[in-house]
Amino acid sequence: MRLDKFLSNMGFGSRKEVKQLMKSGAVTVNGIPVKDSSSHVQEGTDRVSVLGEEVEYIKYIYLMMNKPQGVISATEDVQDQTVIDLLDPLHRHFEPFPVGRLDKDTEGLLLLTNDGKLSHNLLSPKKHVPKTYFAVIEGIVTEEDINKFREGVILEDGYETKPAVLNILESGPQSEIQLTITEGKFHQVKRMFEAVGKRVTYLKRLSMGNLKLDPKLALGEYRELTDEEIEELK
Ligand code: URA
Repeated sequence: MRLDKFLSNMGFGSRKEVKQLMKSGAVTVNGIPVKDSSSHVQEGTDRVSVLGEEVEYIKYIYLMMNKPQGVISATEDVQDQTVIDLLDPLHRHFEPFPVGRLDKDTEGLLLLTNDGKLSHNLLSPKKHVPKTYFAVIEGIVTEEDINKFREGVILEDGYETKPAVLNILESGPQSEIQLTITEGKFHQVKRMFEAVGKRVTYLKRLSMGNLKLDPKLALGEYRELTDEEIEELK
């Protein structure tokens, strides 16, 4: 990787700023000052230092976002703002992508990473990673719905859902529920409620595997995962 890209990715400013930094003699590779910004380094092997401080090479980033409504969980969109637009340039440098999708009007936990293997594992249908949602439902949610969701409901396209755990938090004309599913079909939660004749009016993801949405994150905010959280996801 080019040394200026390496340093820029690690948060030492834009390519232009890094070039200046290198010109000043602040950057060494394996103890030798390097002023040519187009020189290359082997990430993880060469020892890069800035002002005598070794720069730890970070390959992967893992971010937890509290996705707001109105934002698309994709890397780009011609029309709407994407979750990537909500990241600061330092994190965008790593080219993260959302792990799975939340609908435009769904809020809550969204994991972003550039670790393709972890993403693949979390999304693999074979792994049955549980995802828990909070939802507001138009209509009374009943014990019968709990049983139907446990047994599997038939979606409008004929697909039978895997067993899901439905908890009623409040039942009335506007019910509040928590639902845990282990698959991720398109609009799955909304379609499961449609299958029992009810409509989801608000949807928020609370957890994915062992990863729980940090209640300190306001809508649109994000933070890096802790080492523990990353380990628990693997
Ligand atoms: N199920 C849905 O219907 N929408 C989401 O965004 C996530 C799960």
